[in-house]
Amino acid sequence: MIDTERKDKTFVWHPFTQMQDWAARPQKVIAAAKGIKLIDTEGKEFYDGVSSLWVNIHGHQHSKIDQAIIEQLGKVAHTTMLGLSNIPAVELAEQLVAVTPCGLNKVFYSDDGSTAVEVALKMAFQYWQHKGKMKKQKFISLQQAYHGDTVGTVSVGGIDLFHRVFKPLLFSTVQIPSPSCYHCQIHSEPAICGLQCAAALEAVLAEHHEEIAAMVIEPMVQAAAGMLMSPSGYLAKIREITRKYDVLLIADEVATGFGRTGKMFACEHEGVEPDIMTLSKGITGGYMPLAATLTTDEIYQAFLGGYSEKKTFYHGHSYTGNPLACAAALANLAIFKEERVIEGLAPKIEAAAAKLKEMEALTHVGSVRQCGLIIGIELMQDKYCKIPYPWEAASGASVCCKAREYGLIIRPIGDVIICMPPLASTVEEIETMLEIIKRSIREITETSMATTALVQPTDL
Ligand SMILES: *Cc1c(COP(=O)(O)O)cnc(C)c1O
Repeated sequence: MIDTERKDKTFVWHPFTQMQDWAARPQKVIAAAKGIKLIDTEGKEFYDGVSSLWVNIHGHQHSKIDQAIIEQLGKVAHTTMLGLSNIPAVELAEQLVAVTPCGLNKVFYSDDGSTAVEVALKMAFQYWQHKGKMKKQKFISLQQAYHGDTVGTVSVGGIDLFHRVFKPLLFSTVQIPSPSCYHCQIHSEPAICGLQCAAALEAVLAEHHEEIAAMVIEPMVQAAAGMLMSPSGYLAKIREITRKYDVLLIADEVATGFGRTGKMFACEHEGVEPDIMTLSKGITGGYMPLAATLTTDEIYQAFLGGYSEKKTFYHGHSYTGNPLACAAALANLAIFKEERVIEGLAPKIEAAAAKLKEMEALTHVGSVRQCGLIIGIELMQDKYCKIPYPWEAASGASVCCKAREYGLIIRPIGDVIICMPPLASTVEEIETMLEIIKRSIREITETSMATTALVQPTDL
């Protein structure tokens, strides 16, 4: 065992990881990365098949982002946004307002997806207090939702495995059915379900809108739920209903933002203008922790007043608006423009769709789901009777383990194999990654699965 791995197992506690299992097995340590390849301490190269957990966009060591950070480092690494400002944070705010949907004109910075959503929730709550609608205190969230791991964001989450243990700490929300519920995904009737789910929202709001501050949603894709796709029209319908009943719409684009779904933001697919939008993961191209919560003039102005009115938004983090991270984010946006990244996505998305068609025919692939370069491949023991693998079989983790042998790093969500290649991947690279996944699925599900599991299950 190399020294770093030994020290890791001695000193580090990894996120979403059963450390007993981690410590018992050989683990990979990444020493470097270039383009869409990760390089481990033994010099072996792997495709970064989940974009370093959904954050990387233009590849690693992109010269423009590297350069932007180095240049900013020559000026200042960090100063506070409390009572001061800094150049990259201001420039970035202007550009974020320009690229996001109409109406989002103010940028509040924080450091990661969870804090961006936490800010959104508190902002929406306080907004109604200032408007004199004191009863508007509750949030509507979706089953299967994931908005982060802080206590506030877990409260609006709907993934039982992650959230159950913390139940006593959480505030109560009104949870409505996911439009992309499991039932409809596997029965391919999403359109009907989408309408039913929108109707469920309308029923709740018709009766309770006076107590509802906002609805929070992952537009188009419930990512951490296992890449569940919303039926088309659902998002627009939700916007229409929330507006009708004077309920704010918070679009959590932490996972879907910055080109992931084929458009710059998922809301664009249905021309939706939310009241609040949260951004993080891809915002710096996958380089640095940074997040932004964008909102409207209407909400911003409700917080204005004299000190005695106590309308200030009392929230902020030490590293808010960090200049190095904002410089990276500016370079990220510049690359989108200069390299026409969004325009170049269509052939990549089509190539992935073609490969997924092949994959759908496999005996143990129950469902394939895609939105842009967000891909989920669900394994099933019996795809015709919709019987999942037993939990102990760890089929998802076994396939991902096998894929490493063929030079691809991916991480499953239960039995859903996730593929989230960096947007910079070429058509050929995307095809190669999916071919590795296909081969790994076949080898695991059509041979060794029958006997024993290779690895322990993982949660996320
Ligand atoms: C990942 C994610 C978050 C949480 O972001 P962190 O940076 O991990 O805190 C929030 N919302 C969505 C939709 C996400 O996918």
